[in-house]
Amino acid sequence: MAEALIVEAAVVEQAGGRFHLSRLSIDPPGPTQVRVRVKACGVCHTDMVMRDGALPVPFPGVLGHEGAGVVEAVGAQVTHVVPGDSVLMSFHSCGVCAACHDHQPGYCDEFFPRNFLGQLGRDDGGLWRKDQRIGSNIFGQSAFATYALAHSDNVVKIDADLPLELLAPLGCGIQTGAGTVLETLKVQPGQSVAVLGGGAVGLSAVMAARIAKAARIVLLDRHCHRLELGRELGATETWEAIESLPDPFDHIIDTTGVPALLPLALEKLAPRGTLALVGAYPPHPFPLDAASVMSMGRRIVGVVEGGIDPQRFLPILIEHYRAGNLPLEKIVRTYPFSAIEQAVADSESGAVIKPVLLMDAQIL
Ligand SMILES: [Zn+2]
Ligand SMILES: [Zn+2]
Repeated sequence: MAEALIVEAAVVEQAGGRFHLSRLSIDPPGPTQVRVRVKACGVCHTDMVMRDGALPVPFPGVLGHEGAGVVEAVGAQVTHVVPGDSVLMSFHSCGVCAACHDHQPGYCDEFFPRNFLGQLGRDDGGLWRKDQRIGSNIFGQSAFATYALAHSDNVVKIDADLPLELLAPLGCGIQTGAGTVLETLKVQPGQSVAVLGGGAVGLSAVMAARIAKAARIVLLDRHCHRLELGRELGATETWEAIESLPDPFDHIIDTTGVPALLPLALEKLAPRGTLALVGAYPPHPFPLDAASVMSMGRRIVGVVEGGIDPQRFLPILIEHYRAGNLPLEKIVRTYPFSAIEQAVADSESGAVIKPVLLMDAQIL
Protein backbone atom coordinates (compact mmCIF):
# COMPACT_ATOMS: atom_id res chain seq x y z
CA MET A 1 0.00 0.00 0.00
CA ALA A 2 1.29 3.45 -0.91
CA GLU A 3 2.41 5.64 1.95
CA ALA A 4 0.05 8.32 3.27
CA LEU A 5 0.76 11.85 2.08
CA ILE A 6 1.02 14.96 4.28
CA VAL A 7 -1.65 17.56 3.65
CA GLU A 8 -2.07 21.02 5.09
CA ALA A 9 -5.73 21.49 5.95
CA ALA A 10 -7.92 24.10 7.67
CA VAL A 11 -9.33 22.11 10.59
CA VAL A 12 -12.32 23.21 12.68
CA GLU A 13 -12.00 21.47 16.05
CA GLN A 14 -15.60 21.84 17.22
CA ALA A 15 -18.88 23.51 16.25
CA GLY A 16 -18.44 27.28 16.36
CA GLY A 17 -14.63 26.98 16.25
CA ARG A 18 -12.19 28.75 13.98
CA PHE A 19 -10.36 27.48 10.91
CA HIS A 20 -6.73 26.76 11.72
CA LEU A 21 -4.12 25.24 9.45
CA SER A 22 -2.88 21.89 10.59
CA ARG A 23 -0.83 19.03 9.13
CA LEU A 24 -2.75 15.83 8.50
CA SER A 25 -2.11 12.71 6.48
CA ILE A 26 -4.35 11.76 3.58
CA ASP A 27 -4.95 8.21 2.38
CA PRO A 28 -4.39 7.00 -1.15
CA PRO A 29 -7.62 7.13 -3.19
CA GLY A 30 -10.10 4.28 -2.78
CA PRO A 31 -11.28 2.47 -5.94
CA THR A 32 -13.77 5.21 -6.95
CA GLN A 33 -11.89 8.17 -5.47
CA VAL A 34 -9.75 10.85 -7.07
CA ARG A 35 -6.95 12.59 -5.19
CA VAL A 36 -6.76 16.21 -6.27
CA ARG A 37 -3.96 18.65 -5.55
CA VAL A 38 -6.14 21.60 -4.64
CA LYS A 39 -5.13 24.91 -6.25
CA ALA A 40 -8.13 27.04 -5.24
CA CYS A 41 -11.30 26.76 -3.18
CA GLY A 42 -14.18 29.21 -2.89
CA VAL A 43 -15.69 30.12 0.47
CA CYS A 44 -19.46 29.49 0.46
CA HIS A 45 -22.08 30.62 2.99
CA THR A 46 -22.79 26.93 3.71
CA ASP A 47 -19.22 26.54 5.02
CA MET A 48 -20.09 28.98 7.81
CA VAL A 49 -23.41 27.22 8.47
CA MET A 50 -21.50 23.94 8.82
CA ARG A 51 -18.72 25.49 10.93
CA ASP A 52 -21.34 26.78 13.35
CA GLY A 53 -22.83 23.32 13.80
CA ALA A 54 -26.21 24.11 12.22
CA LEU A 55 -25.65 21.03 10.05
CA PRO A 56 -24.34 17.84 11.67
CA VAL A 57 -20.89 17.73 10.08
CA PRO A 58 -18.21 15.69 11.89
CA PHE A 59 -15.72 17.55 14.15
CA PRO A 60 -12.81 17.92 14.17
CA GLY A 61 -13.25 18.25 10.46
CA VAL A 62 -12.22 19.89 7.20
CA LEU A 63 -14.82 21.90 5.25
CA GLY A 64 -14.56 23.54 1.83
CA HIS A 65 -16.72 22.48 -1.12
CA GLU A 66 -15.82 24.68 -4.08
CA GLY A 67 -12.46 23.08 -4.79
CA ALA A 68 -10.50 23.14 -8.05
CA GLY A 69 -7.14 21.63 -8.84
CA VAL A 70 -5.17 18.99 -10.67
CA VAL A 71 -5.73 15.23 -10.45
CA GLU A 72 -2.78 13.57 -8.78
CA ALA A 73 -3.92 9.94 -8.40
CA VAL A 74 -7.04 7.95 -9.23
CA GLY A 75 -8.60 4.74 -7.92
CA ALA A 76 -8.76 1.58 -10.02
CA GLN A 77 -12.37 2.14 -11.15
CA VAL A 78 -11.98 5.79 -12.19
CA THR A 79 -11.91 6.15 -15.97
CA HIS A 80 -12.94 9.70 -16.95
CA VAL A 81 -10.00 11.57 -15.42
CA VAL A 82 -6.27 10.80 -15.24
CA PRO A 83 -3.37 12.32 -13.30
CA GLY A 84 -2.55 15.76 -14.68
CA ASP A 85 -6.15 16.68 -15.59
CA SER A 86 -7.52 20.00 -14.35
CA VAL A 87 -10.81 19.50 -12.51
CA LEU A 88 -13.55 21.37 -10.71
CA MET A 89 -15.12 19.62 -7.72
CA SER A 90 -18.84 19.79 -7.01
CA PHE A 91 -21.29 18.06 -4.68
CA HIS A 92 -21.43 14.29 -4.23
CA SER A 93 -24.27 11.93 -5.16
CA CYS A 94 -24.96 8.20 -5.30
CA GLY A 95 -25.36 7.86 -9.07
CA VAL A 96 -28.02 5.14 -8.85
CA CYS A 97 -31.21 6.57 -7.25
CA ALA A 98 -34.13 7.89 -9.31
CA ALA A 99 -33.00 11.53 -9.03
CA CYS A 100 -29.43 10.70 -10.05
CA HIS A 101 -30.82 8.64 -12.93
CA ASP A 102 -32.77 11.73 -14.07
CA HIS A 103 -29.58 13.88 -13.94
CA GLN A 104 -30.94 15.70 -10.87
CA PRO A 105 -28.29 14.68 -8.32
CA GLY A 106 -29.09 17.68 -6.07
CA TYR A 107 -32.14 15.65 -5.01
CA CYS A 108 -30.18 12.41 -4.54
CA ASP A 109 -31.62 10.06 -1.90
CA GLU A 110 -28.21 10.22 -0.21
CA PHE A 111 -27.56 13.96 -0.61
CA PHE A 112 -27.51 14.62 3.13
CA PRO A 113 -25.11 11.86 4.27
CA ARG A 114 -22.81 12.23 1.28
CA ASN A 115 -22.48 16.03 1.52
CA PHE A 116 -23.07 17.09 5.14
CA LEU A 117 -22.21 14.02 7.18
CA GLY A 118 -19.04 13.29 5.22
CA GLN A 119 -20.01 9.64 5.17
CA LEU A 120 -17.25 7.47 3.72
CA GLY A 121 -17.79 4.40 1.59
CA ARG A 122 -16.29 1.12 2.82
CA ASP A 123 -13.17 1.44 0.66
CA ASP A 124 -12.85 5.25 0.71
CA GLY A 125 -9.72 6.94 2.00
CA GLY A 126 -9.85 9.90 4.39
CA LEU A 127 -7.83 12.25 6.59
CA TRP A 128 -5.90 11.41 9.75
CA ARG A 129 -4.16 13.19 12.61
CA LYS A 130 -1.85 10.43 13.82
CA ASP A 131 -4.36 7.64 14.64
CA GLN A 132 -7.39 9.93 14.89
CA ARG A 133 -9.75 10.05 11.92
CA ILE A 134 -10.55 13.68 11.02
CA GLY A 135 -13.93 14.55 9.49
CA SER A 136 -13.46 14.68 5.74
CA ASN A 137 -15.46 14.04 2.58
CA ILE A 138 -17.68 17.10 3.15
CA PHE A 139 -19.52 17.53 -0.18
CA GLY A 140 -17.37 14.59 -1.25
CA GLN A 141 -14.21 16.74 -1.14
CA SER A 142 -13.26 18.76 2.02
CA ALA A 143 -11.20 21.12 -0.13
CA PHE A 144 -9.94 23.62 2.45
CA ALA A 145 -6.71 21.65 2.14
CA THR A 146 -3.74 21.25 -0.15
CA TYR A 147 -5.02 17.81 -1.23
CA ALA A 148 -8.56 16.45 -1.35
CA LEU A 149 -10.10 13.04 -1.95
CA ALA A 150 -13.05 13.52 -4.28
CA HIS A 151 -15.04 10.91 -6.20
CA SER A 152 -15.47 9.97 -9.83
CA ASP A 153 -18.99 11.49 -9.84
CA ASN A 154 -18.06 14.91 -8.48
CA VAL A 155 -14.91 15.82 -10.40
CA VAL A 156 -15.53 17.56 -13.71
CA LYS A 157 -12.61 17.72 -16.15
CA ILE A 158 -11.90 21.15 -17.64
CA ASP A 159 -9.34 22.51 -20.11
CA ALA A 160 -5.90 23.16 -18.62
CA ASP A 161 -5.79 26.79 -19.78
CA LEU A 162 -8.75 27.87 -17.62
CA PRO A 163 -8.18 29.97 -14.44
CA LEU A 164 -8.99 27.71 -11.48
CA GLU A 165 -9.07 30.66 -9.06
CA LEU A 166 -12.05 32.12 -10.93
CA LEU A 167 -13.82 28.88 -11.82
CA ALA A 168 -13.59 27.05 -8.46
CA PRO A 169 -16.90 28.56 -7.22
CA LEU A 170 -18.77 27.18 -10.24
CA GLY A 171 -19.08 23.91 -8.28
CA CYS A 172 -21.54 25.36 -5.73
CA GLY A 173 -22.41 29.06 -5.55
CA ILE A 174 -22.32 29.96 -9.22
CA GLN A 175 -24.07 26.84 -10.48
CA THR A 176 -26.78 27.34 -7.85
CA GLY A 177 -27.71 30.83 -9.09
CA ALA A 178 -27.17 30.16 -12.77
CA GLY A 179 -28.76 26.70 -12.71
CA THR A 180 -31.90 28.06 -11.04
CA VAL A 181 -32.36 30.53 -13.92
CA LEU A 182 -31.26 28.42 -16.87
CA GLU A 183 -32.30 24.88 -15.87
CA THR A 184 -34.95 24.92 -13.12
CA LEU A 185 -36.92 28.03 -14.15
CA LYS A 186 -35.88 27.94 -17.81
CA VAL A 187 -36.25 31.73 -18.04
CA GLN A 188 -37.33 32.75 -21.57
CA PRO A 189 -36.31 35.83 -23.60
CA GLY A 190 -38.46 38.82 -22.70
CA GLN A 191 -39.54 37.54 -19.28
CA SER A 192 -39.13 39.38 -15.98
CA VAL A 193 -36.96 38.10 -13.11
CA ALA A 194 -36.52 39.45 -9.58
CA VAL A 195 -33.58 38.24 -7.52
CA LEU A 196 -33.77 38.68 -3.74
CA GLY A 197 -30.26 38.94 -2.27
CA GLY A 198 -27.08 40.05 -4.06
CA GLY A 199 -24.57 37.51 -2.73
CA ALA A 200 -22.71 35.06 -4.97
CA VAL A 201 -25.84 33.00 -5.70
CA GLY A 202 -28.03 36.04 -6.37
CA LEU A 203 -25.49 37.79 -8.60
CA SER A 204 -24.97 34.54 -10.51
CA ALA A 205 -28.72 34.45 -11.08
CA VAL A 206 -28.51 38.03 -12.41
CA MET A 207 -25.71 37.08 -14.84
CA ALA A 208 -27.70 34.02 -15.97
CA ALA A 209 -30.89 36.06 -16.42
CA ARG A 210 -28.93 38.30 -18.79
CA ILE A 211 -27.69 35.20 -20.64
CA ALA A 212 -31.34 34.05 -20.89
CA LYS A 213 -32.24 37.48 -22.38
CA ALA A 214 -34.74 38.36 -19.67
CA ALA A 215 -36.21 41.81 -20.38
CA ARG A 216 -36.39 42.98 -16.74
CA ILE A 217 -33.79 41.82 -14.25
CA VAL A 218 -34.42 43.32 -10.82
CA LEU A 219 -32.05 42.90 -7.88
CA LEU A 220 -33.03 43.49 -4.27
CA ASP A 221 -30.41 43.91 -1.52
CA ARG A 222 -29.76 46.12 1.50
CA HIS A 223 -26.16 46.90 0.49
CA CYS A 224 -25.60 49.68 -2.07
CA HIS A 225 -22.30 48.23 -3.32
CA ARG A 226 -24.01 44.95 -4.18
CA LEU A 227 -26.74 46.78 -6.10
CA GLU A 228 -24.08 48.68 -8.02
CA LEU A 229 -22.32 45.42 -8.87
CA GLY A 230 -25.67 43.91 -9.84
CA ARG A 231 -26.21 46.68 -12.39
CA GLU A 232 -22.75 46.01 -13.85
CA LEU A 233 -23.62 42.33 -14.16
CA GLY A 234 -26.97 42.82 -15.88
CA ALA A 235 -29.61 44.05 -13.43
CA THR A 236 -31.91 46.56 -15.16
CA GLU A 237 -33.31 47.88 -11.83
CA THR A 238 -32.24 47.66 -8.21
CA TRP A 239 -34.22 48.13 -4.99
CA GLU A 240 -33.42 48.12 -1.29
CA ALA A 241 -36.84 47.16 0.16
CA ILE A 242 -39.17 44.43 -1.02
CA GLU A 243 -42.24 46.60 -0.34
CA SER A 244 -41.10 49.01 -3.04
CA LEU A 245 -40.43 46.29 -5.65
CA PRO A 246 -42.63 47.00 -8.67
CA ASP A 247 -44.60 43.95 -9.78
CA PRO A 248 -45.47 41.60 -11.39
CA PHE A 249 -42.66 39.16 -12.14
CA ASP A 250 -42.63 35.92 -14.13
CA HIS A 251 -39.94 34.58 -11.80
CA ILE A 252 -38.77 35.53 -8.32
CA ILE A 253 -35.66 33.88 -6.92
CA ASP A 254 -35.14 34.09 -3.16
CA THR A 255 -31.50 33.60 -2.21
CA THR A 256 -31.79 35.28 1.20
CA GLY A 257 -33.32 32.41 3.20
CA VAL A 258 -35.35 35.01 5.12
CA PRO A 259 -38.85 33.53 5.54
CA ALA A 260 -40.43 36.94 6.26
CA LEU A 261 -39.78 37.98 2.63
CA LEU A 262 -41.68 35.04 1.12
CA PRO A 263 -45.33 36.12 1.58
CA LEU A 264 -44.44 39.51 0.05
CA ALA A 265 -42.55 37.83 -2.78
CA LEU A 266 -45.58 35.66 -3.60
CA GLU A 267 -47.73 38.80 -3.93
CA LYS A 268 -45.29 40.19 -6.50
CA LEU A 269 -45.62 37.16 -8.80
CA ALA A 270 -47.45 37.46 -12.10
CA PRO A 271 -50.24 34.99 -12.89
CA ARG A 272 -48.50 31.65 -13.63
CA GLY A 273 -45.30 33.08 -12.12
CA THR A 274 -42.87 30.96 -10.12
CA LEU A 275 -41.17 31.63 -6.78
CA ALA A 276 -37.89 29.69 -6.47
CA LEU A 277 -36.67 28.96 -2.93
CA VAL A 278 -32.88 28.81 -3.06
CA GLY A 279 -31.78 30.15 0.35
CA ALA A 280 -30.80 28.30 3.53
CA TYR A 281 -34.09 28.46 5.44
CA PRO A 282 -34.62 27.90 9.13
CA PRO A 283 -36.87 24.89 9.77
CA HIS A 284 -40.03 26.95 10.42
CA PRO A 285 -43.22 27.15 8.35
CA PHE A 286 -44.17 30.44 6.68
CA PRO A 287 -47.71 31.77 6.11
CA LEU A 288 -49.01 31.08 2.62
CA ASP A 289 -51.92 32.72 0.78
CA ALA A 290 -53.04 29.45 -0.78
CA ALA A 291 -55.99 31.04 -2.59
CA SER A 292 -53.76 33.47 -4.49
CA VAL A 293 -51.37 30.67 -5.44
CA MET A 294 -54.21 28.47 -6.66
CA SER A 295 -56.35 31.03 -8.45
CA MET A 296 -53.46 32.64 -10.31
CA GLY A 297 -51.67 29.44 -11.26
CA ARG A 298 -48.59 30.48 -9.34
CA ARG A 299 -45.90 27.95 -8.45
CA ILE A 300 -43.36 27.59 -5.66
CA VAL A 301 -40.32 25.42 -6.30
CA GLY A 302 -37.44 24.45 -4.03
CA VAL A 303 -33.99 24.38 -5.62
CA VAL A 304 -30.83 22.60 -4.48
CA GLU A 305 -27.56 23.48 -6.27
CA GLY A 306 -29.54 24.96 -9.18
CA GLY A 307 -31.29 21.70 -10.05
CA ILE A 308 -28.48 20.71 -12.38
CA ASP A 309 -26.09 17.84 -13.08
CA PRO A 310 -22.57 19.28 -12.66
CA GLN A 311 -21.12 16.90 -15.27
CA ARG A 312 -23.46 18.41 -17.87
CA PHE A 313 -23.91 21.96 -16.58
CA LEU A 314 -20.38 23.04 -15.61
CA PRO A 315 -19.14 22.69 -19.22
CA ILE A 316 -22.07 24.93 -20.30
CA LEU A 317 -21.10 27.55 -17.71
CA ILE A 318 -17.50 27.39 -18.89
CA GLU A 319 -18.65 28.15 -22.45
CA HIS A 320 -20.51 31.18 -21.09
CA TYR A 321 -17.36 32.20 -19.19
CA ARG A 322 -15.25 31.92 -22.35
CA ALA A 323 -17.81 34.00 -24.26
CA GLY A 324 -17.52 36.78 -21.64
CA ASN A 325 -21.03 36.27 -20.27
CA LEU A 326 -19.93 35.22 -16.77
CA PRO A 327 -17.49 37.95 -15.64
CA LEU A 328 -16.49 36.09 -12.49
CA GLU A 329 -13.51 38.39 -11.96
CA LYS A 330 -16.02 41.04 -10.81
CA ILE A 331 -17.18 38.95 -7.84
CA VAL A 332 -14.06 36.92 -6.89
CA ARG A 333 -11.33 38.12 -4.56
CA THR A 334 -8.39 35.80 -3.92
CA TYR A 335 -6.61 35.18 -0.61
CA PRO A 336 -3.60 33.04 0.32
CA PHE A 337 -4.74 29.86 2.09
CA SER A 338 -3.15 31.09 5.34
CA ALA A 339 -5.60 34.05 5.31
CA ILE A 340 -8.67 31.80 5.53
CA GLU A 341 -10.04 33.52 8.64
CA GLN A 342 -9.87 36.89 6.86
CA ALA A 343 -11.58 35.43 3.78
CA VAL A 344 -14.38 34.04 5.95
CA ALA A 345 -14.74 37.35 7.85
CA ASP A 346 -14.96 39.30 4.57
CA SER A 347 -17.63 36.91 3.32
CA GLU A 348 -19.65 37.18 6.51
CA SER A 349 -19.48 40.98 6.61
CA GLY A 350 -20.59 41.14 2.98
CA ALA A 351 -17.46 43.08 2.02
CA VAL A 352 -16.47 40.43 -0.55
CA ILE A 353 -18.96 38.51 -2.70
CA LYS A 354 -16.86 35.41 -3.34
CA PRO A 355 -13.56 34.89 -1.52
CA VAL A 356 -11.38 32.22 -3.13
CA LEU A 357 -8.43 30.68 -1.28
CA LEU A 358 -5.23 29.92 -3.16
CA MET A 359 -3.44 26.84 -1.83
CA ASP A 360 -0.25 26.93 -3.88
CA ALA A 361 1.81 29.06 -1.53
CA GLN A 362 1.11 26.48 1.19
CA ILE A 363 2.15 23.28 -0.62
CA LEU A 364 4.55 21.51 1.68
ZN1 LIG B 1 -28.56 9.48 -5.94
ZN1 LIG C 1 -21.95 25.97 -1.19
